[in-house]
Amino acid sequence: MTNECVFCKIVSGELPADKVYQDDMVTAFRDINPVAPTHILIVPNQHVASTNDLTDADEQLAGRMLTVTRKIAQQEGVAESGYRLIINTGPDANQVVFHLHLHLIGGQKMRYPMG
Ligand code: AMP
Ligand code: ZN
Repeated sequence: MTNECVFCKIVSGELPADKVYQDDMVTAFRDINPVAPTHILIVPNQHVASTNDLTDADEQLAGRMLTVTRKIAQQEGVAESGYRLIINTGPDANQVVFHLHLHLIGGQKMRYPMG
């Protein structure tokens, strides 16, 4: 837990969020400013600033972030229609929140790449 980190506070329940999934390693909640009908953020329960801060010891955590996408996509009804997974790291990717998060975006046809 990092004192001023918004996503740490969402994980702990100190800040409200529309949570759709939580387990011992990750928490998923709806993005406050969705870019598509389904826009979920999947975050580690422990504070990791970005993919630049993942270590070999985080392999299980990184794997969990990916494997829960299937459950959440099914829950959201986009498993068959499709969805996009995005992780932004650093300034060129416009990372705004420095607590690692995986965007799960779906519910509409998307062009690639996004701007
Ligand atoms: P990124 O550019 O990858 O760092 O994206 C950060 C995302 O977090 C944006 O899509 C924001 O809309 C979202 N976000 C920021 N604060 C909150 C919050 N309190 N609850 C839910 N989503 C948030
Ligand atoms: Zn954090």
